[in-house]
Amino acid sequence: MTTGQATVCLTFDFDAISLWVGPMGATSPSMISRGEFGPVGVARILRLLDRHGIPATFFVPGHTAETYPDAVREIVAAGHEVGHHGYLHENPVGLASAEDERRVLARGLDALERTVGARPVGYRSPSWDNSPHTVGLLLEHGFRYESSLMGHDFVPYWCRVGDVIQADGPYLFGREVDLVEMPVSWVLDDFPHFEYLRVGNRVSPGLSAPSKVEEIWRDEFDFMRREVPGGVFTLTMHPQVIGRGHRMLMLERLIAHFGAGGGVRFTTLADAAEAFRAAQPSPPSAPQT
Ligand SMILES: [Zn+2]
Repeated sequence: MTTGQATVCLTFDFDAISLWVGPMGATSPSMISRGEFGPVGVARILRLLDRHGIPATFFVPGHTAETYPDAVREIVAAGHEVGHHGYLHENPVGLASAEDERRVLARGLDALERTVGARPVGYRSPSWDNSPHTVGLLLEHGFRYESSLMGHDFVPYWCRVGDVIQADGPYLFGREVDLVEMPVSWVLDDFPHFEYLRVGNRVSPGLSAPSKVEEIWRDEFDFMRREVPGGVFTLTMHPQVIGRGHRMLMLERLIAHFGAGGGVRFTTLADAAEAFRAAQPSPPSAPQT
């Protein structure tokens, strides 16, 4: 990677039905069918990526791998990266203990390895909500990077353990560890922009015009190009959201825009995380146990 070259990582969280049965607690066929649209979106995304020769990253819950093994195998066969995304899209903060989180992590890994033969090196927590145990568990399982934190927009950094949250004093930062953070942002996520949700008394209006989101994503990218040389631009999308026709056209226009100025590399998060590692003098030392 030459200095100043920009990286674009297109990432897709293939939640499918797990999102609705898991955190949404859905039992109605109509609500669950929103997740059934996931594999429809995946097929469209794979065609788009193939036309442009772009490798991408798909985060796949174990439940999705077991429900739609063929769709996930097609993702793998097309050369894209598959990352870990829980089993039934469990929010780690909502799990009772580190042991529960370890069990979910193992179950998701097992489902991916057993059904599609993929051993992920990357993790994205469902709902982008790491627990205080998450980073330690990922190190335990040999992950190379994770992608759920928001401490920067365009620059990867080392994850930490041992932060101390204080309300009556400054925040105390813990020790950096050998796990790369590939940061994310709700601004660069299709779900809050587009998805209409009514669960209980909670309403997320979504349904934005693509012109609005296109403007935000394009300007974020253009700002990175001008102000953050060597930056990594990570978009988070969901096949069941971005897979609608008008949004697919928006994504195709954006891909053309990102590539138009030259000096841009489209790659997987795993690849971008390894590029970050290669540029560091050395990884943080192993934890003292
Ligand atoms: Zn998700």
